[in-house]
Amino acid sequence: MTKKVAVIGYPVKHSLSPFLHGYWLKKYNIDGEYGLLEVKPEDLKGTLARLESDGYVGCNLTIPHKEEAYRILGNNTGITAHSVGAVNTIYMQYGELWGSNSDVYGFVQNILNSHSDFDFTKGKAVVLGAGGAARAVVCGLIGEKVPEIIIVNRTVEKAEKVKEDLLKISDHVDGWEDNSDIKVVHWDERNEIVKDANILVNTTSLGMKGQPELDISLENIPKNALVNDIVYNPLETKLLKNAMEHGNFVVDGLGMLLYQAVAGFEMWFGIKPEVTEDLREHVLSQMK
Ligand code: NAP
Repeated sequence: MTKKVAVIGYPVKHSLSPFLHGYWLKKYNIDGEYGLLEVKPEDLKGTLARLESDGYVGCNLTIPHKEEAYRILGNNTGITAHSVGAVNTIYMQYGELWGSNSDVYGFVQNILNSHSDFDFTKGKAVVLGAGGAARAVVCGLIGEKVPEIIIVNRTVEKAEKVKEDLLKISDHVDGWEDNSDIKVVHWDERNEIVKDANILVNTTSLGMKGQPELDISLENIPKNALVNDIVYNPLETKLLKNAMEHGNFVVDGLGMLLYQAVAGFEMWFGIKPEVTEDLREHVLSQMK
């Protein structure tokens, strides 16, 4: 029987997920379908309750449903969803719906696959932003045992909340007992705080198509630091361009999107798909 999966959002037409999963379904010759479901916020609970009887083996969630899906699934969520407070991947387990957040895996794998010898434990990580994506990134950094994480945000209270939530959770996770030291600084300090950084990650929406540019000086960042922008449209952001000119290693954000999809595909269809240059080109062609 054809296995059905969909991405649920409102609106959802812009989603790249059908191109991505469709590519793998064809490549691995799997009897599966990956579609789009436009669902209003008030209909999410009902849609999830009917998911299995409607013939789906799982789904992805996108804006604005990730946080509500986490609340609906309650205890049927893993540590990544707890850490981020949001679910982007749902699959069936023991006859029930389970939720996870694969952005954490996507972030870490993107870095490690671009620079296999990158050592997260070597020093300080600076994370720009404190939204949903920042939570996934900080969670990934804690999991990789980064000794010191600095969250830099315009709204300091939001960054403090990310810190508080993630420290609380990490107390209960095996292997995370030696918490990373997490500090919060105001946006105005961004140019100085990158001094001694081992990795700088932009998780703000600045630099994204239609948004203002990210304005940061890289004068103080060490030349051997890795700079990652999780914004992927455009692929080469001003931050990455400046970092390359400064001599830093850079990693763009498209890989995070591709790797986060690996986890869901494997759970639904039983094959761990490969992220290749051809896949990147395929997805990029849909962004033009
Ligand atoms: P979000 O929850 O809305 O957070 C946005 C962040 O940007 C907040 O920290 C916000 O600061 C900051 N920001 C916005 N405008 C700013 C400004 N003018 N000056 C300073 N800071 C500003 O968004 P999100 O869901 O975390 O997503 C953020 C970005 O990550 C988006 O571009 C998204 O496409 C990208 N993303 C990429 C991937 C991937 O797979 N590559 C995955 C997830 C997200 P305040 O808190 O002060 O408002």
